[in-house]
Amino acid sequence: MTERVFNFNAGPATLPLPVLEEAQREMLNYRGSGMSVMEMSHRSKEYEAINNEAEANMKELLGLGDNYRVLFLQGGASTQFAMVPMNFLQPGQRADYILTGSWSEKAQKEAAKLGQTHIAATTQEGNYKRIPSLEEIQLSESPAYVHITSNNTIFGTQWQSFPDFGNIPLVADMSSDILCKPFDASKFALIYAGAQKNLGPSGVTVVVIRQDMIEKAATNIPTMLRYDIHAKNNSLYNTPPSYSVYMVNLVLKWLKAQGGLASMEQRNLEKAALIYDTIDGSNGFYSGHADKDSRSTMNITFRLPNEDLEKTFASEATKQGMIGLKGHRSVGGMRASTYNAMSREGCQALADFMKEFMRKNG
Ligand SMILES: *Cc1c(COP(=O)(O)O)cnc(C)c1O
Repeated sequence: MTERVFNFNAGPATLPLPVLEEAQREMLNYRGSGMSVMEMSHRSKEYEAINNEAEANMKELLGLGDNYRVLFLQGGASTQFAMVPMNFLQPGQRADYILTGSWSEKAQKEAAKLGQTHIAATTQEGNYKRIPSLEEIQLSESPAYVHITSNNTIFGTQWQSFPDFGNIPLVADMSSDILCKPFDASKFALIYAGAQKNLGPSGVTVVVIRQDMIEKAATNIPTMLRYDIHAKNNSLYNTPPSYSVYMVNLVLKWLKAQGGLASMEQRNLEKAALIYDTIDGSNGFYSGHADKDSRSTMNITFRLPNEDLEKTFASEATKQGMIGLKGHRSVGGMRASTYNAMSREGCQALADFMKEFMRKNG
């Protein structure tokens, strides 16, 4: 392989080329420090600046002010499945979960080990092909929080607008679509995202948390699982995943240079339309998994007429430099992950390939 591929992997996923180039330029000697960011003390002035800049950039992109903190933690989004209830689900309380896919199921199961949960809505019937309507959501009486998964990486569905439950804290796993479009982040008490899909490399989990949540977080739990400890220590309580945080900051700077979330949304809609229009115009040769009104701009899931064709599709696409298109086993078929960093050219190449493949095999 002499050229870079169009990488449709679900995660870890493609990163913006300018970000990789900047990291390459700064690799051996970060801004005259004589070393790489990987080799630097996390207590150094240089690293502290990276850490603070990453927090500031994240808040700027989300339009958040002083009543929010951004934490850079380890353990992946999967650790947040446990950390959220450990911190906010007190004895005698109940937490509500809206199930829209495997990741929300996992989050709810983890919480159920630690306290009482209530499933406020589920679209499991029909294999998670849609997001529930507001009318379907039945909250319990004054839940400690409501948890949603904004984008369902495996099934290819995405909340098109977010529910508002008033004073009940809204918690979201945004691992696969954070910063893909503008939204009112101030409606959320806590947002978490493993970086490796839409934010950077693996190794860091970004947590956006409202100040009042930090204040009411549990303190009788292991230190490393306490949000208040990480907030008080500016994500430097112990050694952070420093290089991953540095990479996330480069991605955030790139996002700002691209025009921020509004222009990301525009690009993402156009990119996804190239592929969805191909599916819809294929007379059923390609069939999308998600209902049209629940479709994700980040993960596009579709099937071909049979599994043999799906195998051939994946292997021929790979030969043409488009990789990572095999879908998750729980849905089957294909999945094209078209995160912020996926170029329009990549989506155009895939759409062209799909049309050509259908012409030959349809
Ligand atoms: C990938 C993914 C996870 C799991 O993330 P890890 O960082 O591997 O723990 C959780 N939620 C969603 C929505 C995901 O896409």
